[in-house]
Amino acid sequence: MSKLWVWLLILSLAMGIVPVAGAQEEAESPRNIILIGWDGAQRNHLYECLGRDELPNLKKLASEGALVDIDILGVTDTKAGWSQILSGYNPEVTGVYSNGRYQPVPKGLSIFERLEKHFGADDFVTVAVIGKKGHCGEIDPPRKMRVGTEAEKKIAKAKNPKGKIIEEDGVKYRFIPGSPYYNMYTALEVWEFGLTLDEKVGSRALELLEKYKDKPFFFFVHFAEVDSKGHKHGENSKEYNDALISNDLWTGKITSKLKELGLYDKTLIYVTADHGFDEGKTSHSDAPYVFLGTNDTKVTRRGERADVAPTILASFGLNLRKFRPALDGRPLTSPGKSKAVGSRKARTATPRKRKAANPGRSKANNPGESEAANP
Ligand SMILES: [Zn+2]
Repeated sequence: MSKLWVWLLILSLAMGIVPVAGAQEEAESPRNIILIGWDGAQRNHLYECLGRDELPNLKKLASEGALVDIDILGVTDTKAGWSQILSGYNPEVTGVYSNGRYQPVPKGLSIFERLEKHFGADDFVTVAVIGKKGHCGEIDPPRKMRVGTEAEKKIAKAKNPKGKIIEEDGVKYRFIPGSPYYNMYTALEVWEFGLTLDEKVGSRALELLEKYKDKPFFFFVHFAEVDSKGHKHGENSKEYNDALISNDLWTGKITSKLKELGLYDKTLIYVTADHGFDEGKTSHSDAPYVFLGTNDTKVTRRGERADVAPTILASFGLNLRKFRPALDGRPLTSPGKSKAVGSRKARTATPRKRKAANPGRSKANNPGESEAANP
């Protein structure tokens, strides 16, 4: 190589024109990510708890990264929430509008499937440990039952009968759509749901971290007790408050486990919720104010539920522009549609009045919104 060429090479390396085998990306991407769900955690209540220093682990996490507002566009329930969070798509793409109007999220669109495909199934671990039995985690296939059979009559007699009647070749069937998670769950090493108690969810997550510590991973750890206590005792109850403290405690145990395994510095943690809670009530029919807390220093703005998956996928270095259909959300690490508001300001911000025009939120679309049947 002539001297001139050597100089040109050095110059272009210095200017960052010649990439050095992706060294920069590797250095910046985390090895692992954990998404922790605090199902039904209302933002205002959370900030009150933070103000009383009741959530030291979330506080610590956010002090290393950020705590930003997530404002929900769409139905404030569990199926709509987690489908959007775990995919980055709105209901028009996933077909999951609410607890009562849903279908399996189309194949390939979840964070789990994206990561398994990108990193290779043998080299990457995806795990979901889920507290709920219904609306998050369940994996029922689509079902078609002939109208009038014993099994069908049983469903028809229920207070809120499932599914809708369709007709094929003059025969009437009750069609019950598959669960939103029906397509995605097969991609994972571990998919467990219905664990109910935070303690069961949390200790199982710790066991699985130990088990899979040697490979890069993505964990979804979902705590259900805030939501269930809210439905039972109301948002202003001691029980709801205690459940937030419990979620925080387990978030701290997960963090400690990562430190013990020497993985904390290579792991990003995102804590978020699928919906809030109606102020002082046992419902969350209009509860669009939640949050995202993280040790990711690059999260710079507030956003919406659909921004969570793109944030995670971009952190792992995936090229989001290649995704088809195009993602609805944008990473919280880059300027987005939502106005950039710092985490400090967000704390004192009063929730804005929501826009009236939001077809996905009408009662007619949302027959199963109340989760009374889902403790
Ligand atoms: Zn609920």
